[in-house]
Amino acid sequence: MAKIRIIDKSEDKMRIELRDTDPSFANALRRTVLTEVPFMAIDEVDIGENTSSIFNEFIAHRIGQVPLITDIKSYKLPDRCCGGQCARCSTIATLEAKGPGTVYSKELKFKDKNIKAVEGDIPIIILADGQRLRLEAKAVLGYAKNHAKWQGAHCTYKLLPVVEISKECDACESCVKACPRNIIEMAGKKAKVTDINACIECGECARACAKGAIKVSHAPDVFIMTLESYGGLPAKSILSYALDRLENKVTEFEEMLKKK
Ligand SMILES: [Zn+2]
Repeated sequence: MAKIRIIDKSEDKMRIELRDTDPSFANALRRTVLTEVPFMAIDEVDIGENTSSIFNEFIAHRIGQVPLITDIKSYKLPDRCCGGQCARCSTIATLEAKGPGTVYSKELKFKDKNIKAVEGDIPIIILADGQRLRLEAKAVLGYAKNHAKWQGAHCTYKLLPVVEISKECDACESCVKACPRNIIEMAGKKAKVTDINACIECGECARACAKGAIKVSHAPDVFIMTLESYGGLPAKSILSYALDRLENKVTEFEEMLKKK
Protein backbone atom coordinates (compact mmCIF):
# COMPACT_ATOMS: atom_id res chain seq x y z
CA MET A 1 0.00 0.00 0.00
CA ALA A 2 1.51 3.27 -1.13
CA LYS A 3 1.92 5.96 1.52
CA ILE A 4 1.23 9.55 0.49
CA ARG A 5 2.78 12.61 2.13
CA ILE A 6 2.15 16.18 0.99
CA ILE A 7 5.49 18.01 0.66
CA ASP A 8 3.96 21.41 -0.12
CA LYS A 9 0.72 22.70 -1.58
CA SER A 10 -1.01 25.83 -2.75
CA GLU A 11 -4.40 26.27 -4.44
CA ASP A 12 -3.02 25.41 -7.89
CA LYS A 13 0.07 23.33 -7.24
CA MET A 14 1.13 20.50 -4.95
CA ARG A 15 4.11 18.20 -4.51
CA ILE A 16 3.54 14.82 -2.92
CA GLU A 17 5.78 11.97 -1.90
CA LEU A 18 4.63 8.43 -2.77
CA ARG A 19 6.45 5.86 -0.65
CA ASP A 20 6.58 2.03 -0.76
CA THR A 21 5.23 1.80 -4.29
CA ASP A 22 6.45 1.20 -7.85
CA PRO A 23 6.55 3.08 -11.19
CA SER A 24 3.37 1.36 -12.46
CA PHE A 25 1.26 2.86 -9.64
CA ALA A 26 2.90 6.31 -9.91
CA ASN A 27 2.35 6.29 -13.67
CA ALA A 28 -1.26 5.06 -13.40
CA LEU A 29 -1.99 7.95 -11.01
CA ARG A 30 -0.22 10.45 -13.29
CA ARG A 31 -2.18 9.26 -16.33
CA THR A 32 -5.47 9.40 -14.41
CA VAL A 33 -4.77 13.01 -13.37
CA LEU A 34 -3.95 13.93 -16.98
CA THR A 35 -6.78 12.18 -18.80
CA GLU A 36 -9.57 11.01 -16.49
CA VAL A 37 -10.56 13.99 -14.37
CA PRO A 38 -13.51 15.82 -15.98
CA PHE A 39 -13.09 19.49 -16.81
CA MET A 40 -15.34 22.05 -18.46
CA ALA A 41 -14.44 23.20 -21.99
CA ILE A 42 -16.26 24.73 -24.93
CA ASP A 43 -17.24 21.92 -27.28
CA GLU A 44 -19.50 23.59 -29.85
CA VAL A 45 -19.36 27.08 -31.34
CA ASP A 46 -22.11 28.60 -33.44
CA ILE A 47 -20.74 31.60 -35.35
CA GLY A 48 -23.44 34.21 -35.99
CA GLU A 49 -21.19 36.82 -37.62
CA ASN A 50 -17.48 36.82 -38.43
CA THR A 51 -16.05 39.54 -40.64
CA SER A 52 -12.52 39.11 -39.23
CA SER A 53 -9.56 37.74 -41.22
CA ILE A 54 -9.62 34.43 -39.26
CA PHE A 55 -11.68 31.40 -40.35
CA ASN A 56 -14.59 30.25 -38.14
CA GLU A 57 -12.80 26.92 -37.43
CA PHE A 58 -9.70 28.71 -36.12
CA ILE A 59 -11.75 30.87 -33.77
CA ALA A 60 -13.73 27.83 -32.54
CA HIS A 61 -10.48 25.95 -31.88
CA ARG A 62 -8.99 28.87 -29.92
CA ILE A 63 -12.14 29.26 -27.81
CA GLY A 64 -12.15 25.52 -27.09
CA GLN A 65 -8.65 25.76 -25.63
CA VAL A 66 -9.56 28.48 -23.08
CA PRO A 67 -9.37 26.83 -19.60
CA LEU A 68 -12.65 27.29 -17.70
CA ILE A 69 -13.53 27.27 -14.01
CA THR A 70 -15.05 23.79 -13.55
CA ASP A 71 -17.96 22.75 -11.36
CA ILE A 72 -18.02 18.95 -11.18
CA LYS A 73 -20.67 18.91 -8.44
CA SER A 74 -23.40 20.74 -10.39
CA TYR A 75 -22.78 19.31 -13.85
CA LYS A 76 -23.08 15.81 -15.29
CA LEU A 77 -21.08 14.41 -18.16
CA PRO A 78 -23.21 14.75 -21.34
CA ASP A 79 -23.13 10.99 -22.04
CA ARG A 80 -24.63 10.37 -18.58
CA CYS A 81 -27.40 12.91 -19.21
CA CYS A 82 -29.07 13.99 -22.45
CA GLY A 83 -25.96 14.51 -24.58
CA GLY A 84 -25.46 18.21 -23.81
CA GLN A 85 -28.99 19.51 -24.47
CA CYS A 86 -29.99 20.61 -20.94
CA ALA A 87 -28.70 22.90 -18.19
CA ARG A 88 -27.57 19.94 -16.05
CA CYS A 89 -24.92 18.89 -18.55
CA SER A 90 -24.08 22.07 -20.51
CA THR A 91 -23.96 25.84 -20.29
CA ILE A 92 -24.09 28.46 -23.01
CA ALA A 93 -21.70 31.38 -23.50
CA THR A 94 -22.09 34.32 -25.86
CA LEU A 95 -19.49 36.67 -27.27
CA GLU A 96 -20.09 39.85 -29.19
CA ALA A 97 -17.25 42.17 -30.21
CA LYS A 98 -16.53 44.95 -32.66
CA GLY A 99 -13.10 46.15 -33.85
CA PRO A 100 -10.70 47.75 -33.56
CA GLY A 101 -9.15 45.87 -30.67
CA THR A 102 -8.24 42.53 -29.14
CA VAL A 103 -11.01 40.18 -28.02
CA TYR A 104 -10.14 38.51 -24.70
CA SER A 105 -11.47 35.42 -22.92
CA LYS A 106 -13.28 37.61 -20.33
CA GLU A 107 -15.68 38.63 -23.11
CA LEU A 108 -17.16 35.11 -23.13
CA LYS A 109 -20.33 35.65 -21.09
CA PHE A 110 -21.71 32.44 -19.58
CA LYS A 111 -25.34 31.86 -18.59
CA ASP A 112 -24.08 30.15 -15.43
CA LYS A 113 -22.24 32.86 -13.48
CA ASN A 114 -20.09 30.21 -11.73
CA ILE A 115 -18.47 29.28 -15.05
CA LYS A 116 -15.93 31.63 -16.63
CA ALA A 117 -12.48 31.62 -18.16
CA VAL A 118 -9.74 30.85 -15.60
CA GLU A 119 -7.85 33.94 -16.83
CA GLY A 120 -9.73 36.86 -18.36
CA ASP A 121 -6.85 38.17 -20.45
CA ILE A 122 -6.30 35.26 -22.85
CA PRO A 123 -6.33 36.83 -26.34
CA ILE A 124 -8.72 35.16 -28.81
CA ILE A 125 -8.55 37.41 -31.87
CA ILE A 126 -7.48 40.90 -33.01
CA LEU A 127 -10.24 42.73 -34.87
CA ALA A 128 -9.46 45.55 -37.31
CA ASP A 129 -11.58 48.69 -37.51
CA GLY A 130 -15.19 47.76 -38.29
CA GLN A 131 -14.71 43.97 -38.11
CA ARG A 132 -17.28 42.09 -36.04
CA LEU A 133 -17.49 38.78 -34.22
CA ARG A 134 -20.69 37.33 -32.76
CA LEU A 135 -21.01 33.75 -31.56
CA GLU A 136 -22.71 31.36 -29.15
CA ALA A 137 -20.73 28.52 -27.56
CA LYS A 138 -21.65 25.47 -25.52
CA ALA A 139 -19.41 24.26 -22.68
CA VAL A 140 -19.63 20.69 -21.36
CA LEU A 141 -17.66 18.43 -19.05
CA GLY A 142 -15.30 15.98 -20.73
CA TYR A 143 -12.19 13.87 -20.36
CA ALA A 144 -8.79 14.72 -21.83
CA LYS A 145 -8.51 11.12 -23.10
CA ASN A 146 -11.06 12.27 -25.72
CA HIS A 147 -9.63 15.74 -26.45
CA ALA A 148 -6.77 17.82 -24.99
CA LYS A 149 -9.10 20.81 -24.38
CA TRP A 150 -10.47 18.93 -21.35
CA GLN A 151 -7.04 18.53 -19.77
CA GLY A 152 -7.05 20.64 -16.63
CA ALA A 153 -3.74 19.78 -14.98
CA HIS A 154 -0.15 18.88 -15.57
CA CYS A 155 1.42 16.02 -13.63
CA THR A 156 4.95 14.61 -13.51
CA TYR A 157 6.98 12.43 -11.17
CA LYS A 158 10.58 11.50 -10.51
CA LEU A 159 12.31 9.00 -8.26
CA LEU A 160 13.52 10.42 -4.95
CA PRO A 161 17.22 11.32 -5.37
CA VAL A 162 19.74 9.94 -2.86
CA VAL A 163 23.03 11.78 -2.28
CA GLU A 164 25.45 9.83 -0.10
CA ILE A 165 28.39 11.74 1.34
CA SER A 166 30.99 9.46 2.91
CA LYS A 167 33.47 10.21 5.70
CA GLU A 168 36.15 10.82 3.02
CA CYS A 169 34.65 14.34 2.70
CA ASP A 170 37.29 16.92 3.69
CA ALA A 171 34.95 19.92 3.59
CA CYS A 172 36.70 21.45 0.56
CA GLU A 173 33.34 23.01 -0.47
CA SER A 174 33.87 22.28 -4.18
CA CYS A 175 30.50 20.43 -4.25
CA VAL A 176 28.78 23.47 -2.70
CA LYS A 177 30.02 25.64 -5.58
CA ALA A 178 29.30 22.97 -8.23
CA CYS A 179 25.66 22.28 -7.30
CA PRO A 180 23.42 24.16 -9.79
CA ARG A 181 20.45 23.91 -7.38
CA ASN A 182 22.37 25.36 -4.40
CA ILE A 183 21.22 22.61 -2.08
CA ILE A 184 24.56 21.59 -0.53
CA GLU A 185 26.06 23.40 2.44
CA MET A 186 28.74 22.74 5.02
CA ALA A 187 27.60 21.32 8.34
CA GLY A 188 30.69 21.31 10.55
CA LYS A 189 33.41 19.37 8.74
CA LYS A 190 31.16 17.64 6.24
CA ALA A 191 28.95 18.58 3.29
CA LYS A 192 25.19 18.19 3.77
CA VAL A 193 22.20 18.29 1.37
CA THR A 194 19.58 20.82 2.50
CA ASP A 195 16.65 19.96 0.20
CA ILE A 196 16.83 16.53 -1.42
CA ASN A 197 13.49 17.06 -3.24
CA ALA A 198 15.11 19.87 -5.25
CA CYS A 199 17.98 17.62 -6.46
CA ILE A 200 17.96 16.90 -10.21
CA GLU A 201 20.55 14.08 -10.04
CA CYS A 202 22.91 15.97 -12.37
CA GLY A 203 25.94 14.51 -10.55
CA GLU A 204 27.91 17.80 -10.63
CA CYS A 205 28.70 17.44 -6.89
CA ALA A 206 30.16 13.95 -7.38
CA ARG A 207 32.27 15.13 -10.33
CA ALA A 208 33.55 18.16 -8.40
CA CYS A 209 34.63 16.07 -5.39
CA ALA A 210 38.36 15.28 -5.72
CA LYS A 211 38.12 12.68 -2.92
CA GLY A 212 35.29 10.74 -4.60
CA ALA A 213 33.25 11.06 -1.41
CA ILE A 214 29.88 11.72 -3.07
CA LYS A 215 27.59 9.18 -4.71
CA VAL A 216 24.34 10.22 -6.42
CA SER A 217 21.58 7.68 -7.07
CA HIS A 218 17.85 7.35 -6.36
CA ALA A 219 15.52 5.33 -4.16
CA PRO A 220 13.69 2.60 -6.16
CA ASP A 221 10.33 2.92 -4.36
CA VAL A 222 9.91 6.60 -3.46
CA PHE A 223 8.48 9.09 -5.97
CA ILE A 224 8.13 12.87 -5.91
CA MET A 225 5.00 13.83 -7.84
CA THR A 226 4.21 17.38 -8.95
CA LEU A 227 0.63 18.27 -9.86
CA GLU A 228 -0.19 21.67 -11.29
CA SER A 229 -3.77 22.72 -12.02
CA TYR A 230 -4.54 25.09 -14.91
CA GLY A 231 -6.95 26.81 -12.52
CA GLY A 232 -10.23 25.00 -13.33
CA LEU A 233 -10.21 23.05 -10.04
CA PRO A 234 -7.96 23.20 -6.93
CA ALA A 235 -4.94 20.86 -7.16
CA LYS A 236 -6.10 18.89 -4.11
CA SER A 237 -9.57 18.25 -5.62
CA ILE A 238 -7.94 16.98 -8.83
CA LEU A 239 -5.74 14.55 -6.88
CA SER A 240 -8.58 13.20 -4.74
CA TYR A 241 -10.86 12.79 -7.80
CA ALA A 242 -8.05 10.94 -9.64
CA LEU A 243 -7.48 8.60 -6.66
CA ASP A 244 -11.23 7.79 -6.49
CA ARG A 245 -11.37 7.24 -10.24
CA LEU A 246 -8.36 4.91 -10.15
CA GLU A 247 -9.90 2.92 -7.29
CA ASN A 248 -13.23 2.64 -9.14
CA LYS A 249 -11.51 1.39 -12.27
CA VAL A 250 -9.71 -1.34 -10.32
CA THR A 251 -13.00 -2.32 -8.62
CA GLU A 252 -14.80 -2.45 -12.00
CA PHE A 253 -12.04 -4.64 -13.36
CA GLU A 254 -12.26 -6.95 -10.36
CA GLU A 255 -16.04 -7.28 -10.79
CA MET A 256 -15.65 -8.08 -14.48
CA LEU A 257 -13.15 -10.79 -13.55
CA LYS A 258 -15.57 -12.33 -11.03
CA LYS A 259 -18.29 -12.61 -13.70
CA LYS A 260 -16.01 -14.62 -16.02
ZN1 LIG B 1 -28.50 16.96 -20.03
